[in-house]
Amino acid sequence: MKYFGAHVSASGGLENAPRNAHAIGATAFALFTKNQRQWMAKPLTAAEIDAFRRACDECGYTPAQILPHDSYLINLGHPEAEALEKSRTAFTDEMKRCELLGLDRLNFHPGSHLKQISEEESLDRIAESINLALEKTHGVTAVIENTAGQGSNLGFRFEHLAYLIDRIEDKSRVGVCIDTCHAFAAGYDLRTEEACEATFAELERVVGFRYLKGMHLNDAMKILGSRVDRHSSLGEGMIGEACFRYIARDPRFDAIPLILETPDESRWAEEIARLKAFAAEVQ
Ligand SMILES: [Zn+2]
Ligand SMILES: [Zn+2]
Repeated sequence: MKYFGAHVSASGGLENAPRNAHAIGATAFALFTKNQRQWMAKPLTAAEIDAFRRACDECGYTPAQILPHDSYLINLGHPEAEALEKSRTAFTDEMKRCELLGLDRLNFHPGSHLKQISEEESLDRIAESINLALEKTHGVTAVIENTAGQGSNLGFRFEHLAYLIDRIEDKSRVGVCIDTCHAFAAGYDLRTEEACEATFAELERVVGFRYLKGMHLNDAMKILGSRVDRHSSLGEGMIGEACFRYIARDPRFDAIPLILETPDESRWAEEIARLKAFAAEVQ
């Protein structure tokens, strides 16, 4: 079973996210559980938690269909002690919010070295940040997203993801989310079925599909290896439609949230319908 959805708005209340997803025919969705551009949020109230859980039930979403994303401000590999501490506190808070909402995974970008420390030193900090958050929470998997490698962002090589997983104490609560635009921008070709075969074989070899807890389905505005993070609607960028058809038909991507972060939200319903049609070709 494939779960297709989009990163929907939760404005006006978290319970609006499942409703917005349902309205576009999504069988999965992503959301921010707080304002993604602010450090702190008011604690969730029992009423907010209840409203969210009820809306998920009503619209038929289980935790395996929901991929919350953390704030863009957080940098778990920050070179400076004080800023690192602030990020760790905020990240643990986000993990706790997921736990309270009954969600089982949190998607985040690993972090940046800001050209002040080495890649390895920054990756070590990220791994420690994840371990600290896992110690303080229960039942929520930390889902590391691959990045485009823009600026000093880490996580653009599958090896970075493997390096982090290797250093996580509780392997049952760490996973990865592969963003197709980011992978392509980082130099992993996805333009043809053969290219997808090779890229995902590399993912299997370096990381392992057992860690795959979600995907972001985005076409890429810039060329292969550009290291620029600019998303396009499916089939309209440099990757092209073959990649999304490949993923929709391949059982290795079953039972995890497959999330659009494409720029034109008026087209999400149509993009989801197209993905469902691809998946139906092999059923
Ligand atoms: Zn993404
Ligand atoms: Zn992106």
